[in-house]
Amino acid sequence: MASNRTFTMIKPDAVEANHIGHILAMITDAGFTIKAMKFTHLSRKDAETFYAVHKERPFFGELVDYMISGPVVAAILEKDNAVADFRNLIGATDPAEAAEGTVRKKYAESKAKNAVHGSDSDDNAAIESGFHFSEREIVG
Ligand code: GDP
Repeated sequence: MASNRTFTMIKPDAVEANHIGHILAMITDAGFTIKAMKFTHLSRKDAETFYAVHKERPFFGELVDYMISGPVVAAILEKDNAVADFRNLIGATDPAEAAEGTVRKKYAESKAKNAVHGSDSDDNAAIESGFHFSEREIVG
């Protein structure tokens, strides 16, 4: 059965462009409930650990530099079928390929600076949520 939680970050490009409020409105309008949230600036070590799964990819260095270039909003979201529904809400990695009405279509600058992160599986949602939040930071 699909888990009902996913993990997101509003990435530095979207924070810098003052899109936090618009993106949170899209998320809650789509039926997601916020279970935990923080505004934070990742360290290089944080970003390297969070994206360790991509460390062999040619853009790893660029990805880490981008993710530490400014603050992010990290959040745990709840909804039935959360992981898949959130991936649908944010759209394809590259905004040029993202469907109309998706977060990335509206707010992403490029494939690299693509406004939001969304977990790609229930297992990664749990790992990523645990990386950013302790149990007592999550609303029951
Ligand atoms: P996602 O699951 O849609 O976020 O996409 P991926 O897991 O494939 O990539 C992780 C993140 O790496 C993306 O969200 C982008 O921020 C970044 N990324 C993906 N492809 C590229 C690329 O070709 N160049 C750079 N610089 N960053 C990329």
